[in-house]
Amino acid sequence: MELTFLGAAGTVTGSKYLLENNGSQHLIDCGLYQGVKNFRKRNWQALPIPMRNLQSVLLTHAHIDHSGYIPALVKRGYKGKIYCTPATFELCKVLLPDAGFLQEEDARYANKRRFSKHSPAQPLFTKEDALRALKQFETIAPNKELSLRDGLKIMFSPVGHILGASCIRIHNEQTSVLFSGDVGRQNDPMMYPPEPHSGADYLVIESTYGDRRHGDTDVMTELATIINTTAARGGTVLIPSFAVGRAQLLLQLISELKRQQRIVNIPLFLNSPMAISATEIHHKFHELHRLTETQCLQIDANTQYVRTVEESISLNSKRMPCIIISASGMASGGRVLHHLKSLVSNHRNSVVFAGFQAAGTRGESMLRGVEQIKIHGAYYPVKAEIHNLENLSAHGDFEEILHWLREFKTKPIHTWVTHGEPVAADAMRLHIQDELGWSVSVAEYRDTVSLG
Ligand SMILES: [Zn+2]
Repeated sequence: MELTFLGAAGTVTGSKYLLENNGSQHLIDCGLYQGVKNFRKRNWQALPIPMRNLQSVLLTHAHIDHSGYIPALVKRGYKGKIYCTPATFELCKVLLPDAGFLQEEDARYANKRRFSKHSPAQPLFTKEDALRALKQFETIAPNKELSLRDGLKIMFSPVGHILGASCIRIHNEQTSVLFSGDVGRQNDPMMYPPEPHSGADYLVIESTYGDRRHGDTDVMTELATIINTTAARGGTVLIPSFAVGRAQLLLQLISELKRQQRIVNIPLFLNSPMAISATEIHHKFHELHRLTETQCLQIDANTQYVRTVEESISLNSKRMPCIIISASGMASGGRVLHHLKSLVSNHRNSVVFAGFQAAGTRGESMLRGVEQIKIHGAYYPVKAEIHNLENLSAHGDFEEILHWLREFKTKPIHTWVTHGEPVAADAMRLHIQDELGWSVSVAEYRDTVSLG
């Protein structure tokens, strides 16, 4: 087998790995690049794969930086199957059409305001393309082996992170390789920890937090303090959140704070049709997370779900303290941008980030303390208080990942570190080399390596 790194090399987005087995090709993850423009430009470059040779796409989980290029792949002529777990498929049914809709919206907006350098601006793919791509999905139950046409055997195993998220072990008669996907936390309040895995001859491991520990701050207390102080000065708490996973966890934490009367009783809005659908999917897949039926009902009782554009716009004209959770999580697109435009320049308000912020995103620049941010071609001064709930991340830190790796029965012949900013990826490499004694290197974009 041969492996080529077509994404998530030198960055956390655009996950795409090409695996060649006796002339047939498979893609593991097929994600969009987000954040830094030079990376985003790669979304528009042709993949170095003739579509007729591509036999399957294997998807670790539904996040757009892992799944979001699938509709573009189908638009460019891919006709094969896309394998994932049932929960991942349910989430993709929501996420991918929405991603297509956002692409169309952005292109429309750019054309209307004429701020795009391309005229007319084109969407990378449309909602229609995404709906077509969904017809090629096929689900595979966790921990069940499946044989592909060329004899490769694949198995998906849960790794926490978000609903349906899995690592994927692939093997032929000679050798095996394991793709970690995104690895979750050991003690997440909502997701179960990654399942212990037996390992493989070769390993591709993520490194989002390869250089960091999450610490042991009490997120509930942190969140309560932010909400109470912001409300006391008459401000609104805006939480840009990933629609899947983090939004549901935030709803749960805030519902619990309300139940315990630790925060003032102000309205809680979830303004993201996608996050609302994802919340419904969480209710449906009870066995995959820790929340009880009662907790799910409590969330519904405490939350005002904002579905229509009209409701979303009228939310901006409300001048009373409230909490708004809206996507996207790195403020790179979506409805949260309209809230940022109306809230970020007032010192009474707070903007709270709740997950990893990739380089080049508005989230990352606000956390760095920039004085103004650019939204839809215009600049807005940043006067609101900016917070980061780092302990809420859905990614394990390096200690948590090492914990998962230590349980492997097989020590890999070689490990490649991916899915990290350069400093984090290199730190993860050193941890694996020094603490586990494994042969390891950081994957480079477009590098091809031979397995076995
Ligand atoms: Zn993810």
